[in-house]
Amino acid sequence: HLSERLLKVADFVPEGANLADIGSDHAYLPTYLALHDATLTAIAGEVNEGPYQSAVMQVKRSELTDRIKVRKGDGLNVIEVEDQINVISIAGMGGALIQTILEQGKDKLGAVERLILQPNVGAIFIREWLSQNGWVLIDEAILEEDEKIYEVLVAEKGTDQFLYKEQREAKLLLGPFLMKQCSAIFKKKWGHELKHWQQILKRLETAKETESNEQRKKELEQKILITKEALS
Ligand code: SAM
Repeated sequence: HLSERLLKVADFVPEGANLADIGSDHAYLPTYLALHDATLTAIAGEVNEGPYQSAVMQVKRSELTDRIKVRKGDGLNVIEVEDQINVISIAGMGGALIQTILEQGKDKLGAVERLILQPNVGAIFIREWLSQNGWVLIDEAILEEDEKIYEVLVAEKGTDQFLYKEQREAKLLLGPFLMKQCSAIFKKKWGHELKHWQQILKRLETAKETESNEQRKKELEQKILITKEALS
């Protein structure tokens, strides 16, 4: 049994992929995929000893050691050119950390055709990075599990000049596909965020008028404005 969240990530992995799952923890995603697709091969990357050992055990238990290699290392360092990885998944971390992993591993992305990224928060950092590094979002998903809301971003190489032609700021924050779908979960997520921002704004309005407070107020007002517009 795979979580709904990881099942959604799995949905975007093409058949026969040569996958690198970075921050794989128990290697649940690559083992699930390999058990359902006999042509899939994978690397499960982990930087921490505990999760690395969990991944090693899981792959052994599933008798998939011939098709899934578990490697210990930071981010995309676990990938070698010879691995011919064509799909990378990074799930269950903050968007800022995912962005850092991509930025620091840029030179490993030459042969990679698809990125499947599942940030717990801060998807905007990923969308900005993709946009500045020759990747274009081709799809997005949003789902709720155990009272948490998750986003999944799928990108392929290309230029995104049309994707962000209008409402660039809103699309980077909320996601161009998710904005268009405007699902009930999407509305719930951003409705919560709106309330949260409005509370902060209220506090700032009674706080001292420092330069940084004024700056934060301006930013919040702008985010509130574009989010309200997207939800209306
Ligand atoms: N990907 C799995 C999932 O979505 O369920 C596991 C998510 S778990 C919350 C995040 C994992 O990323 C942890 O096991 C952590 O050790 C690993 N991690 C964090 N930073 C990393 C990095 N720079 N390189 C590789 N793994 C990392």
